[in-house]
Amino acid sequence: EEPAAAMAVPQAGSDELVLLKRVGVVDPMSLDDYRAHGGYSALRRAFELGPAGVIREVTDSGLVGRGGAAFPTGRKWQATASQPDHPHYLVCNADESEPGTFKDRVLMEGDPYALVEAMTIAAYATGAHKGYLYLRGEYPRALARLEHAIAQARARGFLGDDVLGQGYAFDIEIRRGAGAYICGEETALFNSIEGYRGEPRSKPPFPVEKGLFGKPTVENNVETLVNVLPILTMGAPAYAAIGTERSTGPKLFCVSGSVARPGIYELPFGATLGELLELAGVREGLRAVLLGGAAGGFVRPDEMDIPLTFEGTREAGTTLGSGVVLAFDDTVPLPRLLLRIAEFFRDESCGQCVPCRVGTVRQEEALHRIAERTGAAAADDIALLREVGRAMRDASICGLGQTAWNAVESAIDRLGAYE
Ligand code: NAD
Ligand code: SF4
Repeated sequence: EEPAAAMAVPQAGSDELVLLKRVGVVDPMSLDDYRAHGGYSALRRAFELGPAGVIREVTDSGLVGRGGAAFPTGRKWQATASQPDHPHYLVCNADESEPGTFKDRVLMEGDPYALVEAMTIAAYATGAHKGYLYLRGEYPRALARLEHAIAQARARGFLGDDVLGQGYAFDIEIRRGAGAYICGEETALFNSIEGYRGEPRSKPPFPVEKGLFGKPTVENNVETLVNVLPILTMGAPAYAAIGTERSTGPKLFCVSGSVARPGIYELPFGATLGELLELAGVREGLRAVLLGGAAGGFVRPDEMDIPLTFEGTREAGTTLGSGVVLAFDDTVPLPRLLLRIAEFFRDESCGQCVPCRVGTVRQEEALHRIAERTGAAAADDIALLREVGRAMRDASICGLGQTAWNAVESAIDRLGAYE
């Protein structure tokens, strides 16, 4: 098998890496090699700390969710751990589907035991004995490696009825997605696991209270979970010293498009967009950068000073999301690109609520009319796009509808896409 994950990591082997330190270095099919590279020291530390101690470390580290929404992980874990209703579940969201996102894939293919160990720690801390790993269906290599890792961990006592002889039972079941973007939304994902249509539920109640099978559930993204390993091995203060005060730790960025070296880059929060693009080798004639994927927003080439932090991107009127950085040079026809994004949302809308079901169709129609006119927009098309966009943002049930107009809006307002 070729080492695909290593090829996707331009920085592989660098001593400065925290999250990617084993990717491209460790043999992903060997539990012994994982242990030889520091594996399972975080779980041992977790058993020393006890569940409450682990949650304290995670809270003190300042870790926030890396799926895109940046919710404080310690708060989520504490909220689930304190629920009297049982059983508790852990769900790892590995249904990575945001266009331009491929960081979780690299982690799972290159260091699968890290995720198995991190899930065990999260479950131990929050009182869960069963974990589901909901994996994007289009990731067959990650599936093979994770299945192998889980089987090996089970055979060697790192999963099962008595993890590491500590009297704690935990096991992991993998469920594969079937290609629907919406199943990455946490409550649609629960429905999918339960055997129902992948349609989001209204929140609240939040999953910490009523999640999978109506039970208290911690749902975390792959990268979020993998961050727990360095938090426990280096300690919360040392981890929190990485990055900025409000965005702590290291972050994976998915850089693609008009760059010389596309791939996953690990940087501490706080590096600027320009610094990241320089690493990736930005090409001549940069026209725009899409931050946060299709649900995110465009920025201009003169905005390279934007700090890559949750607060910095928010202050700049854009978003970091899950860490997508998609560069476009001036050979990319923007009206076609925006139409493609609108097609994506129309296609992936689950159709459950009217603003999104109808709004994504109207948005696509308007962008189609504009593209047919080779990019010249009539004022009434723009007015219609704004009205539909506002309705989707304000009245949709879930994040898909609420963000389906972000990229188009930013292209109009920041890039002057149709002027
Ligand atoms: P959200 O803000 O509704 O929730 C974020 C998390 O915090 C959820 O787990 C939610 O249950 C929890 N939460 C929020 N408030 C809470 C409370 N009061 N108590 C307890 N828990 C609470 O966001 P979301 O809809 O889950 O996710 C949206 C994000 O997903 C966007 O930022 C988008 O970029 C990202 N996204 C990522 C991908 C990907 O492939 N990684 C794909 C699509 C979307
Ligand atoms: Fe479904 Fe769109 Fe409504 Fe979300 S916003 S529930 S994807 S129709």
